[in-house]
Amino acid sequence: MKISVFFCSMLIMMSAAYGGSVKADTKVVAHRGYWKTEGSAQNSIASLVKADSIKAYGSEFDVWLTADDNLVVNHDMVFKGVNFPEASMEEISAVRLDNGEKVPTLEEYLATALKHPDIRLVLEVKTHGNDSVRQTLACQKIVDMVNGFKLQDRVDYIAFSLFACKELHRLSPETPVYYLNGDLSPEEVKKLGFAGLDYSYKVFEKHPEWIDEAKNLGLEVNVWTVDDPEMMKSLILKDVDYITTNRPEELQQLLPQPK
Ligand code: MG
Repeated sequence: MKISVFFCSMLIMMSAAYGGSVKADTKVVAHRGYWKTEGSAQNSIASLVKADSIKAYGSEFDVWLTADDNLVVNHDMVFKGVNFPEASMEEISAVRLDNGEKVPTLEEYLATALKHPDIRLVLEVKTHGNDSVRQTLACQKIVDMVNGFKLQDRVDYIAFSLFACKELHRLSPETPVYYLNGDLSPEEVKKLGFAGLDYSYKVFEKHPEWIDEAKNLGLEVNVWTVDDPEMMKSLILKDVDYITTNRPEELQQLLPQPK
């Protein structure tokens, strides 16, 4: 914890230099779970378990609706030659992740989450083309499954699709929804009733004022995907609410205490 003590001291010194206080209560979200570690893989069950084992605040993961209306956890639309939204569950069940696991269903992922009650579930609904029928069905089935597991209080919904965000907010108004696409100002996000912004660090480089604007509107700010320690430090000093990273343990070491 020497690094944490050192960085904590740095925060105090930098805080004094800026003439303000630095709370540094930024929380760590493991991007696609904690996968840069032995025996893990992106969006695997192991990545969720391992994110919990290091006490990450949250584990982010991606959900597709298959052609035969099943929900599966994976990032890429086309993965190992299989187009997920156009494939059947039978085709997808033959695919193996890099750690040897099969592609988790959302049901399997959420069932695992029940055994790990401390970790927040940052659920990305993938964009199902321009097909509002499939997107609507994906949102409906996801919300039904999350609610069926009684996990709606542990989930944050995130999506690039504004249509999906609106639908998720309509279907589950008490569950926080964060917009990913980076093209709406904090004021516009607030008007839509969403919980906050979950934007690329590149968006905040272009609009650094959006962090404070969001806070002043009572919105939360999540920034992705931040793997550079210098950028992590800069965002911690800006007191963003969440940083989404492929390097959760490195980020934890930059915080005064693991979050
Ligand atoms: Mg994602």
